[in-house]
Amino acid sequence: MNKPWENQVKPFKIIGNVYFVGYIAASSHLIDTGDGLILIDTGYPNGLYLVIDSIYTLGFNPKDVKYIIHTHGHYDHCGATRAFTSLYGGKTFIGAGDEDYVNGKKDLTWARELGYEYHGAFDADEILHDGDCVELGNTKIEILSTPGHTPGTISLFFDTEENQQTYKVGMHGGVGANSMKLKWLAENGLSLNCREQFLNGIKKLKSKPVDVFLGNHVENNDTIGKYKRSLIEKENPFIDPQGWIEFLSMCEDMVKKMIAENR
Ligand SMILES: [Zn+2]
Repeated sequence: MNKPWENQVKPFKIIGNVYFVGYIAASSHLIDTGDGLILIDTGYPNGLYLVIDSIYTLGFNPKDVKYIIHTHGHYDHCGATRAFTSLYGGKTFIGAGDEDYVNGKKDLTWARELGYEYHGAFDADEILHDGDCVELGNTKIEILSTPGHTPGTISLFFDTEENQQTYKVGMHGGVGANSMKLKWLAENGLSLNCREQFLNGIKKLKSKPVDVFLGNHVENNDTIGKYKRSLIEKENPFIDPQGWIEFLSMCEDMVKKMIAENR
């Protein structure tokens, strides 16, 4: 991300206690649990000021971020964590398998591929496993392990309330096929098995009922398009259960095609 200022997105409420505080190149979400904030992904180091500004713009204080959960250990999701925690504190979480990505022991953060060196390695305070729960205030996040994009990619599920209704929020934590391509796997000594794991994860997630699906990149759930629609439509366009299934099917097809074409 060369020009963060061209990536800026005005922060907004998605639904209930869930807010978008990310930008075009990488999404970050904030959950107001009533007993502190949870930040999902910190983004690129040079985009941190956008995330901080968004948190303040919404009337929150980054010092109230108690938990930082990372969808996976790639640079565009955890690159700003070291800087964030040194400024404001916060307990950090990463899926089991990616802890050695973020602490720098394995050079697999994808920083190089994105045109950077990996600075700001950190040891995550907690390692998350399949079926774990992260609870803070009024929010209980169920963690499902969905490896493939990286070994430690996690998916998140929790409830939020709006207008006395409960909505199920879900997020797949890493769907890019780039890190599952034959060439990249071979170059980095990684197993082909990650593709099967990815497809198994999709199957597992399709069985989860989700009303509102989030994306760790704006294109995953058409974050910007839905936000624009929310300004003119009566119903909240982020309530999109069918979109969740369609998105997962699209990711599934993409990886199946990659396997079929031997890429
Ligand atoms: Zn990634």
